[in-house]
Parts: sequence; C-alpha cells; structure tokens
Amino acid sequence: PLIDGLQSGRADFVRRVTGLYRQHGPQAAADVAAGFAAGNADAVARAAHALKSMSLNLGAKTVAAQAAGIEAAVRQDGALPGEADVAALSQAVLETLAALDRLMAATSPATASAPVPPAASAPSSDDPDVALAAELQRAISLGQLSVLYQPLFDRAGKSIVSCEALVRWNRQGLPPVGPDRFIPLAEHSGLIHGLGAEVRRLVFEDMKRLGGLPVAVNVSPVELASTGFFESLSQETALAGIDPGQLVIEVTETAFLGEPERVRELFERLRATGIKLALDDFGVGYSSMTALRRFPFDKIKIDREFVRALDGEKHEAMESLAIIQAITGIGRAMGREVVAEGVETEAQHAKLRASGVHAMQGWLFSKAVALSELEAMLGQSGRRSAAG
Ligand code: C2E
Ligand code: MG
Ligand code: MG
Repeated sequence: PLIDGLQSGRADFVRRVTGLYRQHGPQAAADVAAGFAAGNADAVARAAHALKSMSLNLGAKTVAAQAAGIEAAVRQDGALPGEADVAALSQAVLETLAALDRLMAATSPATASAPVPPAASAPSSDDPDVALAAELQRAISLGQLSVLYQPLFDRAGKSIVSCEALVRWNRQGLPPVGPDRFIPLAEHSGLIHGLGAEVRRLVFEDMKRLGGLPVAVNVSPVELASTGFFESLSQETALAGIDPGQLVIEVTETAFLGEPERVRELFERLRATGIKLALDDFGVGYSSMTALRRFPFDKIKIDREFVRALDGEKHEAMESLAIIQAITGIGRAMGREVVAEGVETEAQHAKLRASGVHAMQGWLFSKAVALSELEAMLGQSGRRSAAG
C-alpha cells in the first residue's frame, strides 16, 4: 500500500495530518523539480529532505523512499538526480494524495458516495492538465465545489421567473479556475460524472428553500451519453424529495452529435417525468436549427454572443438584431420559451424586449449569487409573474 497505519488513527488527527500533507506535499515535490530545473543540487536536497520527513510522518512509504533516495544521492556526490526520478517523485505524491482521498471517502460517510477514479489511470504528471485534474478530483471528494444561482427575469427585467445553477470551485487561496476551464477538463478526465452528481446533490438540497422556483442545471453531453443517466437522475430526485417539474436541464447541441436517437429517447423519458429541457448557447453551433426541430425543447437560450453584438458597430448590431428576432419568431411559433443570455446593458435589454424575448439573464439584472442572496431577492421582487 502507498500509505501505512492510517486506518488505526483517530479521525481528527488523521484529518489534520492528511490536510497538512495535501498542503505541503505537492509544494515540496514542486520545489524538488524547481531546484532540479535550476541546477541547484542543494535546493533539491533540502526539498527532498522536507518531503521525506512529512511522508514518513504520514506513513507514505513510497514517496518517503523516493525522496530519501534523491536526498542521499545528492548529499553523497553532490550531483543532480535524474530527470526520471524527479518526475516519478511528483507522480508518487499525486498517487498518494489520490489514495488518501479514497481512504477518506471510505471512512467518512459524507463523501463516501463520490466515486474517485483510480490515480493509476493518470498519465505523466508534468502535464498541467493532469495536475489540475488530480486537484479537481480531490476538490470533488472533499466537498470544495459549490453552486451559485443566477436569476432569470421576466421581459421587463422586474420579477424573477427562474434561475440557473452554476458550479464554482473553491480553491482555498489558489487563483480561481472557472467552469469554462474545468468543465472540459472534467469531461476529458471522466471526472464529470462525479462532478455532475455533486452539483445536483447541492442543487436539489437548495431547491427545497426556493418555494417552487424553477431551477436549471447544466448537464454535460458526456453525462447524457453514459448509460444509466436517467436511472441515476430519477434516484437522485426521489432521494432528495424534489418535484421534477421544478427542474430544468440545460444542454448544448453537442449532446446530439453522438447518438441522436438515443438522446431523443432519453429526452422523451425525462420530459415524461415533468423535467423541462433547455437548448443552451443557441445559434453558435452548426446544427442549432436541426436540434430545435428534432428534439423536444421547452426553452431556447440565445447565446450571449448575439446579445453582445447588439452593442457592436452598426452593421453587426443590425444583423444580430435580425437573427434574434428570427429566433424569437421561430421559438414563439413552436411554443418554446425564448431566453436571452448575457444581457449587460440597457440598450441590449430594450432591443431584446422589443423583439419579444420572454426572459432575460445577465449582469444588468444580477450576477450569479449565493442561495441566501437569491432568497433575499425573491423576498423583494414579486417572483414569478407570467413570463409570456
Ligand atoms: P452557460 O450554461 O451558458 O452559463 C452562462 C454563463 O454566462 C455563466 O458563466 C454565467 O456566469 C455567464 N454570464 C451570465 N450573465 C452574464 C453577462 O451578463 N455577461 C457575461 N459576460 N457573462 C455572463 P460560468 O458560470 O462561468 O459558466 C460557464 C459555462 O460552464 C456555462 O455556460 C456552462 O456551460 C458550464 N457550467 C457551469 N456550471 C456547470 C455545471 O454545473 N455542470 C456543467 N456540466 N457545466 C456547467
Ligand atoms: Mg447554461
Ligand atoms: Mg449559455
């Protein structure tokens, strides 16, 4: 095993020690690599010594042995270690952290449900994506994801008609990484399944406090394509005791690129439970129209690129307005609700309102906020006036 003796320790002690290791282990490995890159043998030996000590404290034998080997070699003949040894050390630290997570997940009921894929599947760790994915994996199992809610307003921009849940990663002092970066990473690394389940767990808990306000969650095409998605979701909603009629699922047209017939069937089943479907980022892809025609969407969300262009130079603004009016006309004719995303200015709002868009989402009205703030806003605005 990578780690010895942890099972017997007291829970809080274990948590403290592993927390310290999480904090300092990767840094010490990075210091070894930095010293190596700078050709500074003394810095390598010092960092290796620190890593050896903290690894011994934890019982992380593999890392301790590798660090000790590097330290001894440098101290004995003053030469730098081999590049492969330095890389192996970083990888061993990552694997140890992943093993810790599995151990914590297995011993703590709160996180036991979060599946943690084996670290052995990770390729070499000098790839920044791999390091970030390993960190994201830990964040998911440690409960470091949270959800903010961005309210959607009626056409007048006065009352709140629904909201969208948007995931956030609390990196505890490290520079923020946004969903535009870590969602694709999660999709490529397979972490999206655990991430999506964690987001829905948080959202379904919060939904009870929103008095029936519709809540939209984004679901990745990778999740939709996995077998058993419908069953897991049904189980999640039933366990949480929420009304599926309060739930909106947002997907982009990329959801249909794989097996459109399977996805269509899935959508029919979801809608039969009362769940609503929204086509996100409408208009930026190649097949938005086809998607709209062939799949049973309740809502269309016009991509914010078109909204942004409304404030652009004259030709661009006119073209964008024409497109928005066309989308709104089609949506209305098909009985779909039309939402504009990314509304930032009064001028955009005025044009969208005149085009007949049903609902508005954007910083002009509100950014994504914490649940408590949304509740306060709902208390103030008379919510849920008719959105048509
Ligand atoms: P999206 O679903 O299209 O979400 C709207 C994005 O636009 C959000 O970015 C939101 O904060 C941002 N936004 C809202 N109003 C404005 C505005 O007035 N101006 C500008 N410039 N931006 C605005 P965010 O939260 O960074 O999320 C980015 C994307 O990440 C989302 O795009 C969605 O595709 C994905 N995402 C977010 N949360 C989740 C999640 O829980 N699961 C999955 N699978 N994807 C998620
Ligand atoms: Mg969305
Ligand atoms: Mg969008």
